[in-house]
Amino acid sequence: MNIVDVHCHYTYKNFQKDLDKTIKKMEKAGVKKVITNGLNPKDNKEVLKLASKYKIVEAAIGIYPTEAGSMSDKELKEILNQIEENKNNIIAIGEVGLDHHWTKDKKKKDRQKEVLREIIKLANKIKKPIIVHSRNAESETVEVMKEAKVPVIMHCFCGKLAPTNEAIKAGFYFSIPTMIVRSKTFKKLVKRAGLDKLLTETDAPFLAPKSGERNDASNITQSITKIAEVLKLDEQKVAQKIYSNYKKVFNQQHSS
Ligand SMILES: [Zn+2]
Repeated sequence: MNIVDVHCHYTYKNFQKDLDKTIKKMEKAGVKKVITNGLNPKDNKEVLKLASKYKIVEAAIGIYPTEAGSMSDKELKEILNQIEENKNNIIAIGEVGLDHHWTKDKKKKDRQKEVLREIIKLANKIKKPIIVHSRNAESETVEVMKEAKVPVIMHCFCGKLAPTNEAIKAGFYFSIPTMIVRSKTFKKLVKRAGLDKLLTETDAPFLAPKSGERNDASNITQSITKIAEVLKLDEQKVAQKIYSNYKKVFNQQHSS
């Protein structure tokens, strides 16, 4: 089985001690690629290092929305430069997006949107897919993401019916988290979006299938079983199709 994790954070400190072992465990489970997402300039550097060290790791670099909300113009320029300078070392831009759960201040919300728009412009220019966070801001996020001329991947998307339908209409992809094993929301999303628009993710170390545990991509086998069950399809077929979706979305412009 070919398995892919398009959204995770293997730079997190609780992976430091046993990352070699964890990667071996993932490979044994059939994991072929994990896209580690960066959260800020410092983390982005770590992501790039990890991707050059491990063949299984691909890099996405970005700026976490809550940090984007309080960025100065100078900091924004720096992050845009960091992304552009590394365009040949990354497979996508992420994690970026809007978060109205942790950010309540109107000015900061507006700033998040401004930053996201600049990121989209850059993605269109360097032709990189965008991996998008949208917490309690699904409708706004979908609206803004329509400006993208590159593939859009909505990570762990929990939007209501209207924004979900908008995102489907816009042709966005959905990366389904391992939480699907204990969440009705994602089972519904799988049915609505259909296999052609699905990808898989962990958001590791977070959102493990079993609450409280450290997550990693070996758990995606459980998501495949669940997605196959929801769509009444063969597990192998589901895994194969999701892997080919991954190749289509991410590898077309990838140079390495
Ligand atoms: Zn994340």
